[in-house]
Amino acid sequence: MHRPVMIEEVMRYLDPEPGEVIVDCTVGEGGHASRILGAIRPGGRLIGIDQDEEVLARAKEKLKDYDGLYTLLWENFKNLDSILKRLKVTRIDGALFDLGLSSFQLEAPARGFSFQREAPLDMRMDKRRKITAFDLVNHLAQAEMSKILMDFGEERWSNRIARQIVRARKNGPITTTTQLAEIVRRAVPDRNRYKRIHPATRTFQAFRIVVNQELEALETGLSATIEALAEGSMVLVISFHSLEDRIVKNKFKKFAKAGVLEILTKKPIRPQADEVRVNPRCRSARLRVGRKKR
Ligand code: SAH
Repeated sequence: MHRPVMIEEVMRYLDPEPGEVIVDCTVGEGGHASRILGAIRPGGRLIGIDQDEEVLARAKEKLKDYDGLYTLLWENFKNLDSILKRLKVTRIDGALFDLGLSSFQLEAPARGFSFQREAPLDMRMDKRRKITAFDLVNHLAQAEMSKILMDFGEERWSNRIARQIVRARKNGPITTTTQLAEIVRRAVPDRNRYKRIHPATRTFQAFRIVVNQELEALETGLSATIEALAEGSMVLVISFHSLEDRIVKNKFKKFAKAGVLEILTKKPIRPQADEVRVNPRCRSARLRVGRKKR
């Protein structure tokens, strides 16, 4: 079961009220959504977006007590603008982004997100996408791969890892997560091999970001959300690594400078120690909140 990250902090800032229209841009398994739905009835509406069809089926099950109050869409939040037009929604009273992966995605054997589980190299959140991690790992030129590992994994051993991947695939395609993780582990210097954080963590992050075009989606989706917000309403973003957090920080700054947004979190809010203890996966979470100016 996926535990909603920083749920109390989210509810405090979002402060959803009966009758309001809230957009959950990453509805996932519906953890945050079910709390929000409990607060907006009677009369409210939750628009829940996710690009992962399998996850949406789980959200539907979780939210069944609130039938009629929500709309679930198999969509990418980068299309928020056209989604709202299609639904004829002209104002939203709050929006949440909870980026990254759900526990289900991480643990689902066939998806290939985790180096701890043997799986085909896929990593697509949306199976309508054509490019998978397999394609990148087996077909990118070495220099380009190294740049991706540097830019999207902030991986200091990007050159060595890319070189070893290219060398390994000469013996036949690299097909599984564990195969890739092992190549990366052997590519980095000895002293990095047995750290608490697996040496393949950054490589997996980099390929995942590219496969799903995650940073472009965040740029576009966040701008569209801020534009669509009603005056005085909140936008909340929970991010899980520094590349995402930087985008959120800069986007908020840009809108603040234009006089459109008030930034309520000078520094991002981190989860309480209690929460990290029961849900270690939230340890890297950072929440930023902005309020549309009146
Ligand atoms: N808040 C949810 C968990 C969200 S996990 C809960 O409490 O259950 C993050 C989700 O965001 C994943 O399901 C993932 O598929 C989705 N996601 C990530 N990027 C997305 C994008 N660009 N568009 C739509 N959904 C996205």
